[in-house]
Amino acid sequence: MDEIIKMLDECLDYISHEVIDDTLYINVKSNKESLPCPKCGVESSKVHSRYKKSFQDLPIQGKKVVIVLKNKNMFCTNPKCKKYTFSESFDFIDPKGKKTKRLIEEIIRVSLTQSSVSAAKYLSDTTVDIKKSSICNYLKKNSSFKQE
Ligand SMILES: [Zn+2]
Repeated sequence: MDEIIKMLDECLDYISHEVIDDTLYINVKSNKESLPCPKCGVESSKVHSRYKKSFQDLPIQGKKVVIVLKNKNMFCTNPKCKKYTFSESFDFIDPKGKKTKRLIEEIIRVSLTQSSVSAAKYLSDTTVDIKKSSICNYLKKNSSFKQE
């Protein structure tokens, strides 16, 4: 399981997992000891707090996947920096996102070839619980992306 998690990001360590109904919950944590402040770039290893951040990812073995990340809030140790605390962010997901970028790509791929109603049904059966309205939002964002 650690290998699968590392395919998403080398910085993630597998902790444990459990299956509840059709969903596989995977608990992970970051293995980075220090992180650069997004504002000033100074590395900090001073942990302010930890919180759980969960997001959906591509299915594994026919199970929907929810990854539960124990994320760290860090103090910026640079006295000249105005940013007091910051949390670790990752390339595979938007900072406020609830789905990995590769999952969103899969949702868009499936939805381009069929109506959003049938795409929502297919995806909810096989990949991720999703509403038709969310699919429309992804498609809209995707097409405005291409025009730029
Ligand atoms: Zn800073």
